[in-house]
Amino acid sequence: MTESFLVENRLGYRILRWVLLTALVAGIMLSAMQVIFDAQRVSEELNQNARQTLALVRDAATQAVYSIDEDLARQVVDGLFKQAAVRFASIRHPDGTILAERTRPLETASYRSITDVIFKPERTYSVPLIKNDPQPVTYGTLEIRLDTVHTARLWLERATLTLLSGIARALILGLALYLVYHWLLNRPLMRIIESVAAVDPENPGEHLLKTPEGHQGDELDIWVKGTNNLLRSIADSQKKQWAAEARITRLSRYDHLTGLPNRAMLLSLLTSALDDSRRREHVVAIYCCGLDDFKGINDQYGYRAGDRLLQSIADRLAIEHNDVALVAARLSGDQFVIVEQRLKDGYQAAATAEWLLREISRATLIGDREVSTTATIGISLFPGDAHQADKLLQQAEQTMTLAKAGGRNRFQFYVASIDREIRERKQLERDLSKALSGNQFHLVYQPQINLEMRRVIGAEALIRWQHPERGLIPPDQFIPLAELNHSIIEIGNWVLDQACQQAAAWCEKGMPIRIAVNLSAVQLRQDDIVERVLEVLKRHSLPPNRLELEVTETSFMESLDEAVDKLTKLRNEGIQIAVDDFGTGYSSLTYLKRLPVQHLKIDKQFIHDLLVNDDDTRIANTIIDLGKSLNLDVVAEGVETEEQEVYLRTRGCMLAQGYLFSKPLTPDVFETFVSEFHRSFDKTELPG
Ligand code: C2E
Ligand code: MG
Ligand code: MG
Repeated sequence: MTESFLVENRLGYRILRWVLLTALVAGIMLSAMQVIFDAQRVSEELNQNARQTLALVRDAATQAVYSIDEDLARQVVDGLFKQAAVRFASIRHPDGTILAERTRPLETASYRSITDVIFKPERTYSVPLIKNDPQPVTYGTLEIRLDTVHTARLWLERATLTLLSGIARALILGLALYLVYHWLLNRPLMRIIESVAAVDPENPGEHLLKTPEGHQGDELDIWVKGTNNLLRSIADSQKKQWAAEARITRLSRYDHLTGLPNRAMLLSLLTSALDDSRRREHVVAIYCCGLDDFKGINDQYGYRAGDRLLQSIADRLAIEHNDVALVAARLSGDQFVIVEQRLKDGYQAAATAEWLLREISRATLIGDREVSTTATIGISLFPGDAHQADKLLQQAEQTMTLAKAGGRNRFQFYVASIDREIRERKQLERDLSKALSGNQFHLVYQPQINLEMRRVIGAEALIRWQHPERGLIPPDQFIPLAELNHSIIEIGNWVLDQACQQAAAWCEKGMPIRIAVNLSAVQLRQDDIVERVLEVLKRHSLPPNRLELEVTETSFMESLDEAVDKLTKLRNEGIQIAVDDFGTGYSSLTYLKRLPVQHLKIDKQFIHDLLVNDDDTRIANTIIDLGKSLNLDVVAEGVETEEQEVYLRTRGCMLAQGYLFSKPLTPDVFETFVSEFHRSFDKTELPG
C-alpha cells in the first residue's frame, strides 16, 4: 500500500481525530466553567444557610446570655449540633467567658485535599447577641464553625456528573459531525479518487471522472467537470504531440513522395531482417532497381507525371510476393531497393528479379496517357556476398550501375560466377518450358532382372531431354528445375502416358513387362493423381499390375497421411508401389509399415561401393534383411559388376537393375535386349 493510503494519512481519519479532540477540549472547558460556577453558587449557599441557622437560634442564645442560663445555652448549642455540618458552637459573654461550647473533629474524606482548597476546611460565622432594653446592649456572641465536607461532597458529585456528561455530549456531537462530513464529503471524494486512479496516463481522454451520485451541481460536480475538461485537453494535446512526433519520424525515416522507407530506415530494417535470417538460415536478396532513363520521362511528360509514375511503382513494389512481405525503399530519385527474406537460394531471387522487372515495366495511366519505364536490377545475396546491411546495399547498388553499362531491363548478381550459373539455370528453365511442345523428350527403358530366373521382369522408364543446342541433358539437372516450377506435373503426365503406351504395346507383342515410372513428390501431392493414373491405364488398356510407381521417401514425409491414402487407393487398384533410392532419406520403419509398398530399391550409391566400403555393404545388407522381414521384394539399383551380382544373390536380393545387364535403352533396342538376354540364358541352361 502506498504512503498516501496509510490509514493515519487519510483525510477522514485526520478530521475525525481533530473533531474529537476539539469536541473533547470544548466539552471539558464548558463543563469546567459550569463546575466553577457551581462551586461559587454552593459556597454562597453555605454562607446563606449558616446565616439562617444563626438567625434561627439567635433569640434563644440572647435569652441564655441575658439570663446567664447555662442550660438554655447548652440546649441551643446541642440544637445546633443536630446539623451534621456544625462542628463547633459557642455562646460567650463579651469578656470571653464561655457560657456553652461544643466541638467535634473535622470529618475525614479522600477528596478533602481538593475541596478544602476550594471551600476551605471549615467556615466560621458569628453574631452579636443584642437586647434592646430599651437601648441596644450586647450581652454576648454566638459563634459556629461549619465543616465544608458535606456541601463539598454534593458539589463534587454534581461536578463529576457535569464533567462526564459534558465530555460525552461533546464526543457524540463530534462523531455526528464527522459522520455528516464523511457522508457529504469523504465518501464522494473517495469515489472521485477511484475515478482518478482509473485514468490512463497514456490515454487520459478515454476514462473521464464521474460525479458521485447526489452531487450534481455542487462544488464536487464543478470540480469533476473542471478536471474532465483538463483531461480532455491533455488527451488532445497528447494526440497532437504524437501526431507531430509521428510526422517528424516519418519525415526522417520515409520518403515523402512515395511513403517508402528511406536509406536510413532501410538499413535498420535490413539489419533486423539479416538477424532473423541468420537464425533461420535463410537467404536474403537485396535488389537495387535503377529506373532506365527516368530523366527522359521527366523531360517528355513533365515532373508531375514523373512523380506519379514513381508513386505507382512504389505501390506495386511494397506488397507480398510468394507469401512474404517485401521491404521496399526509395534511395534516391529513380532508385528503389527491395529486400526479400526466406529464400532458399539465389535461384529463387532470380525469379523475383524477373517479377520485379515485369512489375516495374507495367504501364501507368497518367491523365490520358500510358507511361512506362524499365529498370535494371543489381542483386546481392546474404549470407553469400556479405554479412552487413550497408555492405550488401553497397554491393547491390554497384552491381546495378555495372549492369546498366551492359544493357537495360535486366538483372545481374553481385558475384559473377553465381550470376552466370543462375542465368544458365534460368535459360534452362525457359528452354524446359518449350521442351515438351518441341518434342524434345523421349523415354528410355532400363531392364529389371530377376537374378534367380535370369528373366527380364520389368523396365524402369527414364526420361531423356535432347536439347536442340546443348545435346542430351541428364534428368538430374532438369527434373529438380521442373519440380521447382511445377512443370514436372505436365512432364510427369507425359512420361506416364508414354510408358503405359509402351507397356501396352509390349503386352500385345507377347512381352509381359512391368513398367516402373518415377513419380515426383510434386505429382504425388496433386489432389487428382489417383484418377489421373487410372485414367491413363484405362486409355491404354494396360492391366494395373503392369504398372509400378516409384516414389522417394521425401515425397511422403511432408504429409504421410495424405500419401498413405493416395498410394493405398492406387494399390487397391492393383498398381505396384516401390520406394526409390531407399537408404538415402529417413528410412523409417514407421512409414514403411503404413505404406502399401511391394518393392524397396536400394540406392545405387550403396551398391556402387558394395564389397569395397564396409558401411555401404552393411547398409545394403540391412535393407535386404528389412525387406525380408517386412515381406517386401528388394531391388538393387546400379549393379555394375559380377561380384556385386553374386553377392546380392547369395544375400537373397533377387531383383537387380544396372549397367551390368544394360544401360537404359530405347524401346526397339530394349526388345532386342530382352530376347537376346533370355536366349543366352536358355542356351546356358540347356547345354546340348
Ligand atoms: P532413379 O529413379 O533412381 O533412376 C536410376 C538412375 O540410375 C537412372 O539415372 C539410371 O540411368 C541410373 N543407373 C541405372 N543403372 C546404373 C548403373 O549401373 N550405374 C550407374 N552409375 N547409374 C545407373 P537417370 O536416368 O540419369 O535418372 C536420374 C534420376 O532422375 C532418376 O533416379 C529419377 O530420380 C529421375 N528421373 C528420371 N526420369 C524421370 C521421370 O520420368 N520422372 C521423374 N519424376 N524422375 C525421373
Ligand atoms: Mg527410379
Ligand atoms: Mg533410384
